Amino acid sequence: MTVPAAPTLSSEPRAWWSRVHQALMPDYNRKATIYWWVMGFLGAAVLAVSIVRLASRPPGELVQIFVGCLVAMLAGIFPVRIPGAKNSFAAGEIFIFLLLLIHGPEAAALAAAGEAFVGSARSSKRWTSRLASPAMAAIAMTLAGSSLLAGLGLLRARGTYSEPMMVLGVMFFAIVYFLINTVLVTLVIRLKRNERLQLHEFFGNFGWVGTTYAASSLIAALLFLSFQEIGIGVMAAAVPIIAMLLTMLHYHFRQRETDDAAQTVRVEAAEREAEQAARHVRELQTSEQRFHSAFSHAAIGMALVSTDGRVLQVNAALCNLLGLPEDSVIGHAFSEFVHPDDARALAGHLLPEPSQEIAGPAVEMRCANASGDEVWIQLHSGYFSEHDSSAPCLILQAQDITARRTAESRLHHIAYHDALTSLANRMRFGERLAQAIERRHADPTKHFAVMYLDFYRFKLINDTLGHSAGDQFLVKVAQRIQHQVRPCDTVGRLGGDEFAILIEDMDDVQMAVAMAERLQESLRRPYLLDDTEVDSSASIGITFSSIGYDTPGEVLRDADIAMYRAKAGGRARYALFDASLRAEIADQVRLERDLRRAIERDELSLNYQPIYDLATGRIDCFEALVRWNHPERGPIPPATFIPIAEDSGVIGALTEWVLTHACRQLSAWHEGQPSRSRLRLHVNVSGIDMCRANFISQVATTLLSNGVEPSLLTLEITESMLMKRLDSALENMNRLRKIGVGLSVDDFGTGYSSLSYLSTLPITSLKIDRSFVQRLQNESRNGEVVKAIVTLGVALGKTVIAEGIETPAELNQLRALGCGFGQGYLLARPVTADMCEVLLQGEHHIATLEAASDPTGLLNAADHPGWSVTHH
Ligand code: C2E
Ligand code: MG
Ligand code: MG
Repeated sequence: MTVPAAPTLSSEPRAWWSRVHQALMPDYNRKATIYWWVMGFLGAAVLAVSIVRLASRPPGELVQIFVGCLVAMLAGIFPVRIPGAKNSFAAGEIFIFLLLLIHGPEAAALAAAGEAFVGSARSSKRWTSRLASPAMAAIAMTLAGSSLLAGLGLLRARGTYSEPMMVLGVMFFAIVYFLINTVLVTLVIRLKRNERLQLHEFFGNFGWVGTTYAASSLIAALLFLSFQEIGIGVMAAAVPIIAMLLTMLHYHFRQRETDDAAQTVRVEAAEREAEQAARHVRELQTSEQRFHSAFSHAAIGMALVSTDGRVLQVNAALCNLLGLPEDSVIGHAFSEFVHPDDARALAGHLLPEPSQEIAGPAVEMRCANASGDEVWIQLHSGYFSEHDSSAPCLILQAQDITARRTAESRLHHIAYHDALTSLANRMRFGERLAQAIERRHADPTKHFAVMYLDFYRFKLINDTLGHSAGDQFLVKVAQRIQHQVRPCDTVGRLGGDEFAILIEDMDDVQMAVAMAERLQESLRRPYLLDDTEVDSSASIGITFSSIGYDTPGEVLRDADIAMYRAKAGGRARYALFDASLRAEIADQVRLERDLRRAIERDELSLNYQPIYDLATGRIDCFEALVRWNHPERGPIPPATFIPIAEDSGVIGALTEWVLTHACRQLSAWHEGQPSRSRLRLHVNVSGIDMCRANFISQVATTLLSNGVEPSLLTLEITESMLMKRLDSALENMNRLRKIGVGLSVDDFGTGYSSLSYLSTLPITSLKIDRSFVQRLQNESRNGEVVKAIVTLGVALGKTVIAEGIETPAELNQLRALGCGFGQGYLLARPVTADMCEVLLQGEHHIATLEAASDPTGLLNAADHPGWSVTHH
């Protein structure tokens, strides 16, 4: 809460007063204000009295006084600052004291006030100082000057005055002047701050200045003495000399000041540098300590190594990693601990390149630890130079990555090896093969060979003894193969029972051949699988780098082709690849593929060739013959594609197709034709069919579904095929006979079966091979053979059929020999089912051997004009 001030009468003057006070001395307290005003008035009074007193002096003296005051004030403008002190020395004091000695204290007071004004105007902007300083100087000079003159007067009166006494007196009173002046000035400050005057501090601060006052007064006294001797002229000479001296002093002090400042700067800089250096050393020490503790306690292995590879220092982690104590590592070459195969990688990493400050890329290498185990490390290195050593060294960091490498190599092994046999898998084998091809491209003397192995009976083992036995078989095969190859060779399991061997650094073809023979020898030995002894053998195809390969696929394809060739040659064979084989097999492979498609798409057809009863000339039956009209290659003879079908396993499907279509046709011919109800059909089957377990059911089903009586079907099997597989075929043949199906031995006479053997076979007929028929006329011996066959056949109760009758002479001869049935181009070519219908309806039969025309032109070969059948 504020209480408004009560209006007073004195408020007007007080406001004026406080305005002045506020403007002039806002920082002055009451005591200081009073002191200031007292000093001001007193000084003004002193000056006024002095001026009044001086006014009566003669003009000459007044001029001197004026000039003296002017010089003192001028000197006050250019004070000589004393280096190291706060105060400055004004030359004006000399003239003030000179005025005192010549013209008395009034003149000196004026000069002192003038000089003080100039000095304070220069050093302070405040009028309180500019006014108080001259006042106080005037007071101090009046007091001190009057005292001096009084003293000198007393000396003169006593007759003890002397010039030295005067000089001493002047100096003494100069100091008194200085003291009075200084006390007066200092008091203002002390009063303002409400402090007491401290004399010791006062002397400490102003002692030097006091001495300059004494010096000034001494000069003044000496000038005064000269003035008394010489007159005012001395002044004219003294003033410029003093001015010059002071100027020189001024510049000298300035120079010293500049030098001192420069020196100070230099000293400060040096101090700063020293401090910085000390800090640097401290930091270095700390960082060194830090480094050493990081080095010693690091979990990662670390070593300091000289550029020549010797270990200078090693930490505990690296000793642990190597399993060695520190003194077994220090001093040794680091390479001693690295696997010899990785020595080169290490040398590359330690290569001395002192300019290379930055760490290089990490390398992975093997070390052997004390127990001889392999330890994988990841090594980083970087250059390192210690402040107290001139040569740089290397700091190595070795991280134990054994666990990672082991996991990686396990994964690698899984990815590249066959789990069952641990052999290289197809991918790995392909990679190794690709490398071998590349090496061979780079250096044509680096030959290689690839073997492709296929095992006889592997599928049978799997099917009959089970998969576990199959696996055991494969493992044993893998072991036997590996026993026969060199460490530098690569054995791979490419899938199933397909194995391949890459033989590198091969000297000649003979070496591969010898290896193939050794392999077959070893693989032929019986295998004991689950207590069952099993025989097997390998077909080996071999190809060589000299053929010129670019991809692993090409090599494997050719080795595979050679393997097929080996297989075709019989069991446990090997075959070497050559370029002609490639074309041949490639063609076969294409045909095989096309044949499968042809069966699926019904691109096959059947022709039928009648078999005549040579006695009656009537058609006894038909033989179904398969035809394949390839969409691009045109008609392909059965002699070409039947063996392919047999090799590739397509034969089963083909036989099924033929049987079905033939039976369907026979049933069509029978339909609504009671006269044809005994018409029979011959169908060719392969020896492989005859060995198939499901063959009987297949035949039976086909007959049944087409309503064909089994006795109307005869299956033909070539003699050579029959002899090859007699053991396995016999059972099926017996069963077929049991259900009533007829069996015929085709191409009889080519299969080297003994005639006596015929009696034991469950066959109903035999067909004399065309080759015997054709040679009937030329060689009488053939006539004997045919005669023997006919005789034996008839004796055994078998139907004898002659194949390939092309000429009437052959026909006649066969008839004469007692051959009951025959077929051939002379009688009828294989024709379509429709054409058979014509033949059946026309009831063609062989009438005579006389020349006759063939009105249809269909029945006889164009190359046999003149021989024909007659139509009824
Ligand atoms: P193959 O069973 O001995 O059949 C008789 C072959 O002789 C037929 O040849 C026939 O056209 C031919 N031929 C008939 N008369 C004469 C003649 O007077 N002179 C001459 N030079 N040849 C004559 P094709 O049709 O080329 O059949 C050849 C062989 O292919 C057959 O001999 C048979 O072993 C086999 N084949 C034919 N069709 C089939 C079939 O459907 N299945 C099986 N597994 N094999 C078949
Ligand atoms: Mg036949
Ligand atoms: Mg035949």
